[in-house]
Amino acid sequence: MSKTVIENLAEINEKISVAAKKSGRSLEDVKLIAVTKYVTDQRAVEARDSGISSFGENYEDGFLTKSELLGVDAEMHFIGSLQSKKVKNVINRVDFLHSLDRESLAKEIQKRADFPVKCLIQVNVSEEASKHGINAKDLKKFVQNMLKYDKIEIIGLMTMAPLTTDNELVRSCFSSLRELRDEIRSLNLPNISCEHLSMGMSNDFEIAIEEGATMIRVGTALVG
Ligand SMILES: *Cc1c(COP(=O)(O)O)cnc(C)c1O
Repeated sequence: MSKTVIENLAEINEKISVAAKKSGRSLEDVKLIAVTKYVTDQRAVEARDSGISSFGENYEDGFLTKSELLGVDAEMHFIGSLQSKKVKNVINRVDFLHSLDRESLAKEIQKRADFPVKCLIQVNVSEEASKHGINAKDLKKFVQNMLKYDKIEIIGLMTMAPLTTDNELVRSCFSSLRELRDEIRSLNLPNISCEHLSMGMSNDFEIAIEEGATMIRVGTALVG
């Protein structure tokens, strides 16, 4: 029998607290997003009833089901790659989109969104061929291209670290994302606050927090 969400949450909160303290950061600066993509509706409801208010899903179907189920008070994060043809079905229910990774997606959002959408640009820091995301060297230009879309609000950057037990490699991936964020911020572009760093999952969220994560996306360790 797996542990309750309450039990997992207590452990994770403790780890968040230690990592935040270690790096001189405040707990309130780290948002925990429960990734419910692997779990039943019942487990997602359990998470909500355990006090979690932010949820992440990476497919259209799961996103729409959980969004409906968890109700209007749940903050819904779309964290997976989003096909352009699916934008119209989900975009007006998305509170945060973590996977803006190409201009064609921005164009489709511009066409379909009723309100400006809070977006994080997915960056392929590790430059693995299998990963989505903008390469670091192309990021500045990409951000500047976003200025013409008034339905796109760039609030931060997102990345996934390589799957490895080499913690220093993971750390350097996260610190690179932070440096990129600082670079974008220093451009002082209109409507591009780019303050957030969405990084860290079950296996690496503590390192991510030490490197400045403001949003961590945790599935397995919390609800899975
Ligand atoms: C599945 C997923 C997560 C959560 O992964 P866990 O290792 O289960 O915590 C986080 N971010 C993205 C983009 C995902 O697809």
